[in-house]
Amino acid sequence: MRTVRVNTNTPYDILIERGLIAKTGELVKSVSNSSKVCVITDSNVGAIYGNTVVNSLKNEGFDTVMFTFEAGEKNKRLDTISAMYSYMADFNMSRRDLVVALGGGVTGDMAGFAAATYMRGINFVQIPTSLLAQVDSSVGGKTGVDIEQGKNLVGAFHQPILVIIDPDTLSTLPELYLSDGMGEVIKYGCIKDEKLFETLENENAFDIIDEITEICVSIKRDVVERDEKESGERMLLNFGHTLGHSLEKIYNFEGLSHGQAVAIGMVMIAKAGERAELTEKGSAERIKKLCEKYRLPTSDNASAKDIADICRSDKKASGGSVNLVLLHKIGDSFTKKTELSKLEDFIG
Ligand code: MG
Repeated sequence: MRTVRVNTNTPYDILIERGLIAKTGELVKSVSNSSKVCVITDSNVGAIYGNTVVNSLKNEGFDTVMFTFEAGEKNKRLDTISAMYSYMADFNMSRRDLVVALGGGVTGDMAGFAAATYMRGINFVQIPTSLLAQVDSSVGGKTGVDIEQGKNLVGAFHQPILVIIDPDTLSTLPELYLSDGMGEVIKYGCIKDEKLFETLENENAFDIIDEITEICVSIKRDVVERDEKESGERMLLNFGHTLGHSLEKIYNFEGLSHGQAVAIGMVMIAKAGERAELTEKGSAERIKKLCEKYRLPTSDNASAKDIADICRSDKKASGGSVNLVLLHKIGDSFTKKTELSKLEDFIG
């Protein structure tokens, strides 16, 4: 089994192994002496893995129930959280009891937020089942929900006490969701690890996904440990995200997946870096080729002006500038404060 130890305020382990989901009960028992467990999942993932997880917990003596919400980002709302609170209270859960988040990013964000706030905070365990959640959102302790005015506007930092990653869950994912996660995997290579980038170029990532996942969560772990509340280094994780987020917004979060938007954003910003002679020549082309290999888009019809306009309206609160993440070269990244008024020229 691969183990990545995360030394945040309350340290925890990320365990990676095929078939691990069936051992949830014993793994949870090793970190928790709660008597009750509420597994929170969505209708897609619950139908496939819900019984395995619940039975494994029951076999270890946990009094276990499962809360299932309808799958989809549109349900990442406070009234879903409210239903979770009621369900947990009706089950007489105390402060000593435990939430298990079983699913992709939406489930992890919401179950984590319910755990962060129920009785002012109870423990939770993450079992991320999408590639994106495994390599990205299961590390860092961000939890939350969307409100009408924007995504993830309400939330809390709450670290899990354990993360269980079973790469076999990827076999039940539609292909779009695999490439979605690859956007973030490629990002890690770009910002911190040229060797990872080369491995992704030379091999099929899905043949060695256990190893790739361990490398990605280790990179994120290192960054988050040094910057738990997101002030400095953690910004590097936003490579490709500033422009990507604008693209997601242009398409109302429906036309492009997160990973697709990040892929386009990474290529655009690398090209901009090359034009400004900040980024080694040829980097953008390598990123583009790698994204294509993993079936990610690398360009979009939206104009630099459209994208810059959205950034401007997004970043109003932080003043007249935006921190762009750029590459010196593949594997070596930095942030550059850029005035919003110059953004269109920079990326155009
Ligand atoms: Mg992301």
